[in-house]
Amino acid sequence: MFKSFPVDCLNNAEIKLDGLIYLNNDELDKLLKITPKTYNNFMKPFMELQFVINEFYVPVSHMNLVNDSELSRQVYPMVLMKITKYFTELMQREDIYLALKEISKTELNIIEKKVIDDNILKFELSGVHLEADQKNRIKDMSLKLAELSDQYSKNLLDATNEFELKLKDDTYIKSMPESDKSLALQPDKSYIFTLQAPSYISFMTYCDNRDLRKEIYKAYMTRAVNNSKLIEEILSLRKEMAEILGYKNYADMNNVSMSAKSVDDVILFLEELAVKGKPFALKELADTQEFGKKLGIDNVESFDLAFINNLIKKEKLGFVEEDFLPYFESRNVTDGLLKFLSKLFDIQFVKVENVEVWDDEVVVYDLLIDNNPHARLFLDLYNRKSKRGGAWMNDWHTYRLDGDGNEYFSSAFIVANFPPPKDGKPSLLKHSDVTTLFHEAGHVIHHILSKVNEGYLSGVNGVEWDAIEFPSQFIENFAYEKKVLELFAKDFNTGKAIPDEMIDKLIKNKNFGSAMQLLRQTEFALFDMLVHQSDYSYAEVKGILNKVREKVAVILPPDYTSFENSFSHIFAGGYAAGYYSYKWAEMLSADAYLQFSEAGVFDKELARRFFDNILSRGAEETMDNLFFNFAGRKPDPEALLKTTGLL
Ligand SMILES: [Zn+2]
Repeated sequence: MFKSFPVDCLNNAEIKLDGLIYLNNDELDKLLKITPKTYNNFMKPFMELQFVINEFYVPVSHMNLVNDSELSRQVYPMVLMKITKYFTELMQREDIYLALKEISKTELNIIEKKVIDDNILKFELSGVHLEADQKNRIKDMSLKLAELSDQYSKNLLDATNEFELKLKDDTYIKSMPESDKSLALQPDKSYIFTLQAPSYISFMTYCDNRDLRKEIYKAYMTRAVNNSKLIEEILSLRKEMAEILGYKNYADMNNVSMSAKSVDDVILFLEELAVKGKPFALKELADTQEFGKKLGIDNVESFDLAFINNLIKKEKLGFVEEDFLPYFESRNVTDGLLKFLSKLFDIQFVKVENVEVWDDEVVVYDLLIDNNPHARLFLDLYNRKSKRGGAWMNDWHTYRLDGDGNEYFSSAFIVANFPPPKDGKPSLLKHSDVTTLFHEAGHVIHHILSKVNEGYLSGVNGVEWDAIEFPSQFIENFAYEKKVLELFAKDFNTGKAIPDEMIDKLIKNKNFGSAMQLLRQTEFALFDMLVHQSDYSYAEVKGILNKVREKVAVILPPDYTSFENSFSHIFAGGYAAGYYSYKWAEMLSADAYLQFSEAGVFDKELARRFFDNILSRGAEETMDNLFFNFAGRKPDPEALLKTTGLL
């Protein structure tokens, strides 16, 4: 049934892992000798071998994130290195690739065929099928690209750390929240602001001196000019790599692992968003300009937006985050979230006592479907010293049947850093914490509600990159629904339900400035998609960005800016030709959510369809198909404008 969490997993972890890898390689040798190879005699046991490694690795990496210790710091890097080496070498093995090719010619059902095809594609993207010299070239290029990305990040970091703006007192930052101010305060009572995101954003929002805003903005937007050379090299290598692997360009190559059917589809989608969002963004800008005039700013520029909009927001919405705290006591929120999921999808969460966990605060639930145990969920929600910051979901076991028909249950963790209850005071959450929790719960149910028999395509495994945020963003929407908030948003002192006006405020606050935000994301995504179509020179890259802006943006930044030199998502992170994923997944989630909202949220038939076609299906089919099966049509980009209050 359920395996308990191995709290001692760090002890002798390296030796245990060496043992597992040794046994795996031995087993793999035996599998490779089988003739003729079939799905059942090779692929099934081959996949089980990888699950064994993964299920060993997850708790070790998890402990490193949630229980930092002398031991974890010593053990984790070694384990990570061995795991990376193991999987890298596995993907280079031509004998496995040939075995997959052999099996692809046998008779397979649709799901088996997808498992094999997806695996073959993965191997081919690492160049395993090429001639030796090309194979070596791919390897060299991969290393070089990693080096260039790293250099790009370093240049950006250096440039970010180079700049400081010093204020001798708080004359120009009077309205800044004390918490932000205290971070900038120096022993001599002066204030220092930097280009680190929290400091920069706070300054741009609250500094009422326009020249100072302009000064820090200019420094921010001209960071890392030395990255322009790297951009050329990165684009050139990506283009060459794509061509060797048989694709027209990098964007096309990346598209094969996505749910969007083609690069053209993505571009059309983004252009449509730009066209539809623009009139609303122009209206938002007009409001900003009008308010700006009252402040004596006749020509609003990019460096005025955050400042003016914050004042408008204050005047129009009167949104004060602290007012909401009493309604979101953390245990109420957690219970309410599980109640909501149970009610919507007709499932049950049953608290499990007396199981071993890594910290006393961890709460464990079993998920029951039709009264049968199906998965286990671990919640570790409170901040503590030994835990990494932020919030995330991590999947551990995956639902599947092995070759002998044995059923494996799934499991997942939600980790967050909410304030713990202290000295008899409850843990009260901001509404943004509530949405975070809902978001991660969306990832969790996508994983643990899976009923896919093939582990490789079960839960979040194998889901295309531009669809992975679909269920999480879908669930996040419900944190603003009255019918859902009714389940738990009660004042922890009086038990009084959150008033409707306050829910309205939450929604208005979320939607404020959403059109300009939409266009900004669209601008970045379109630039990313276009720039990855060839080995452009730096001048051409700038030209592409300018053209995109002329089409999309409602306010053009000054000529001196060089945003491309700090767009690390695509030049140093994993989002190359994939930045659009944020909006793409949001379109799917907005469309699905609207159907629920319009049907009054708790609609049994609709929920069943969502469960049967999306949540329980993992990557059995492409998300494109799964969505079509659910909705009976393609997703509608306009949904995105509706959920942000524009339509
Ligand atoms: Zn997410």
